[in-house]
Amino acid sequence: MKGKVYLIGAGPGDVELLTLKAVRAVECSNVVLIDDLVSREILQFLRPRTRVIEVGKRGGCRSTPQPFIERQLVQLARRGLCVARLKGGDPFVFGRGGEELETLRAAGVEVEIISGITAGIGVPAALGIPVTHRQFAHGVTLLTGHTRSGHAPDWDALARSGTTLVFYMGIGNLAGIAAGLRCAGMADGTPVAVVQNGTLPNERRLVTQLGTVVHDVTKAGLGAPAIVVIGDVVRLAAVEGAAEAAHAWA
Ligand code: SAH
Repeated sequence: MKGKVYLIGAGPGDVELLTLKAVRAVECSNVVLIDDLVSREILQFLRPRTRVIEVGKRGGCRSTPQPFIERQLVQLARRGLCVARLKGGDPFVFGRGGEELETLRAAGVEVEIISGITAGIGVPAALGIPVTHRQFAHGVTLLTGHTRSGHAPDWDALARSGTTLVFYMGIGNLAGIAAGLRCAGMADGTPVAVVQNGTLPNERRLVTQLGTVVHDVTKAGLGAPAIVVIGDVVRLAAVEGAAEAAHAWA
């Protein structure tokens, strides 16, 4: 029997945001490799005796080295197993899915990609924030807040882009992000939403403005994993604080 790897995006958290294709792939797998941001509720779809391998790596803490994960995927598939590789959100958005795909292809392993709802779009959507809107933002830019030193984003270009800015892994460097954008001329009153554990029962959210976001997030004690959404679309958020942000914006 020939093995196969499904690279699956499990969505931002709420198990109901899984795709039917993801559930079907999980149902027919012999082994599952699961990241720590993926809701364990998905395990209800496993067949009995399916092996579960946890490969978490959150913010550099407890971690499974990427080459080890990739080697494991290849070895399991070569043993003829059907492998479900479960990642949070979408596997190709800050998910290292591209690297895993390359390794698997190079090893001659059959791979199928199952896209998922990425946190940067699905989490704001759950708050009623459309990341694009004809009136407020003609595009959206997905960014990581966790850049290697010496790789700072082009803040001027971002501030002028007229797009909604969505930062993944942005909480740790929130002060740097806010300072970069403010120095580049983005208005202090620009609305900002910060959502931790979006779409999950322990979700925490805050809607504020660029000038005060660092203070407000620290005061509220919000931490990772969180999505930071910056731009006028945030005024459409159906949450407390959005009206003030909208007022300052107007
Ligand atoms: N591939 C994933 C992103 C992985 S990077 C995707 O497409 O969504 C991990 C980062 O995603 C976290 O640090 C956080 O910024 C964001 N993230 C993932 N799930 C989240 C959630 N439920 N709520 C808020 N942010 C989330």
